[in-house]
Amino acid sequence: MKALVAVKRVVDYNVKVRVKADGSDVDIGNVKMSMNPFDEIAVEEAVRLKEAGKVSEVVAVSIGGKKAEDTLRTALAMGADRAVHIETESSVEPLAVAKLLKKIAEREEAQLLLLGKQAIDDDANQTAQMLAALMNAPQATFAGKIEVNGGEVLVTREIDGGEETLAFRLPVVVSADLRLNEPRFVKLPSLMQAKKKPLEKHTVEELGVDISPRLAVAKYAEPKPRQAGIKVADVDELLAKLKEAKAI
Ligand code: AMP
Repeated sequence: MKALVAVKRVVDYNVKVRVKADGSDVDIGNVKMSMNPFDEIAVEEAVRLKEAGKVSEVVAVSIGGKKAEDTLRTALAMGADRAVHIETESSVEPLAVAKLLKKIAEREEAQLLLLGKQAIDDDANQTAQMLAALMNAPQATFAGKIEVNGGEVLVTREIDGGEETLAFRLPVVVSADLRLNEPRFVKLPSLMQAKKKPLEKHTVEELGVDISPRLAVAKYAEPKPRQAGIKVADVDELLAKLKEAKAI
């Protein structure tokens, strides 16, 4: 069973993003970029399944500018076997990403399609769902556990007040949640070895997918600054302040 893992290059989660003065976009010039954290979890899971003999090959895919190659190299260093880069400098919305991923999934005849539950830049949480719909395949979103038994995949998801375990036939689209695993730390020798692993390039035109945007962002705005808190001397003062603020 071949696994395809979608990895997106995003602003590192430690970076405090700034909105451009005219509100037209966020400023990502000179900020640290990394693999989307949920995608790291997806890669880790695919690699663990391969190490357990449940998956035959792990192919990482990224859609984005030239630098998406760095993200793919990280996936290769984590243990992916091959990488596919669909190079475009245009911004791609989740529907366009889903259409491109479908093309690659079909070419590769991948059976397990792993994505992150959401990209931390657009926070869309749409791509996996759209990919499943386009492929007419079942989907398991927010996976906390994945088990592979022959031709069947069992996915456990956290739901309100408990867990739910779903069984799927292949191919299946699964999106990774935080608790699925803890990704390994990539060591320098693995990064060096990753340089030798195959990385294939495609263009959007060659894949024949229309990526023209359906949405226009009207405005970006920073959150309102939070007011500083105060220290209270005792419980009576605390209660008085809470009453004053009409919190109780
Ligand atoms: P989103 O729907 O934008 O929140 O993204 C959900 C998941 O889709 C991400 O965690 C990635 O696994 C995948 N994805 C989104 N955009 C891209 C991209 N440009 N390249 C590769 N994978 C992507």
